[in-house]
Amino acid sequence: MKKKDYYEILGLSSNASFEDIKMSYRKLAMKYHPDRNPNNKEAEDKFKEIKEAYENLSDPIKRKNYDKYGSVNYNDNLNNNFNETFSDIFSEFFSNEEDEEYENINKWSNFRKKKKNNDDLNENIDLYYKLKITLNEAINGLNTYIEIYYLDICLNCNGTGSKSYIKCNLCKGKGKLNIQKSFFNIKQKCYKCNGKGKIVRLLCKFCNGDGKLKKKKKINIKIPKGIENGMKIKIYNSGNVYKNRKIYGNLYVEIFIKNNIFFKRIKNDLFCKISISYYKAIFGGKINISTFYGKILFYIPKGIQNNTILKLKNKGIKKVNSNFYGDLYCSVFIKIPIDLNKFQKKKLIKLKKILDK
Ligand SMILES: [Zn+2]
Ligand SMILES: [Zn+2]
Repeated sequence: MKKKDYYEILGLSSNASFEDIKMSYRKLAMKYHPDRNPNNKEAEDKFKEIKEAYENLSDPIKRKNYDKYGSVNYNDNLNNNFNETFSDIFSEFFSNEEDEEYENINKWSNFRKKKKNNDDLNENIDLYYKLKITLNEAINGLNTYIEIYYLDICLNCNGTGSKSYIKCNLCKGKGKLNIQKSFFNIKQKCYKCNGKGKIVRLLCKFCNGDGKLKKKKKINIKIPKGIENGMKIKIYNSGNVYKNRKIYGNLYVEIFIKNNIFFKRIKNDLFCKISISYYKAIFGGKINISTFYGKILFYIPKGIQNNTILKLKNKGIKKVNSNFYGDLYCSVFIKIPIDLNKFQKKKLIKLKKILDK
């Protein structure tokens, strides 16, 4: 195994600083990069060697090991594809550059980066709201207001997130970078300013560079008669703002209907229990049934049995966006008195004797 001198490969002395290593690698990597030397095996090998040297010397722990024990053969690991392009090499350098003076700028560019990723993921601008209503409100409809938080354009910066710019110090305002002038004259879009030649100096203090602000608004919600549990009402353009372009997402209000202790609902039909006296069960007669539409007068047929189900046609729930009404089913419950006085008991016993004859 041939011992490699990483310092020699990078043309450096063993006391080279991190900056020296970076600079030298950058210079050599540009020169021997396979993209620039197609079908040149020699250049490819050289590039691998440079890369290996850089990977070892740029990492403080690896460098310490190398200085102490010498090179380790990493060849197996180096037969990877050259996925790294020139811009990768450069962005690696520039993104490491920390400049206190440009703290705000970095913040800004991170934000831009994040924003770009969001855009790629197709920014979700729709909002969802869960609204609990009573069965009565579901049956009769409801006109109500809800308060929601949404993201709107920051009017202070008009959605730009910033108010003032300075000339980019990297490209000197040209928006382009000249790379390796002595060998090649490659012009490349400036990373720092993204080719604009200028950089944000001050972030908008209202939105902190976001260009968007959280706002609260009241929205009128009209719930149609007969709405069912889990149905969603779509309110157009009431979501978050889209990419600072004054286009808004939609708001979806999902309906949750609270349980009612007297009525059960199945689709458009309603089910309930009614209690009647045993006298009425025997002789029949009028009763008032309280429903969501008010009281309904109903005739109980004589001789009705316990648990008989009475159907009141079209007294159920209206179907949304239709004139169809479901039915109301009432299960009859005959009340048996438990607190008869002596006199009543006497009369009942007499009655039993008559009925048993
Ligand atoms: Zn620039
Ligand atoms: Zn702002």
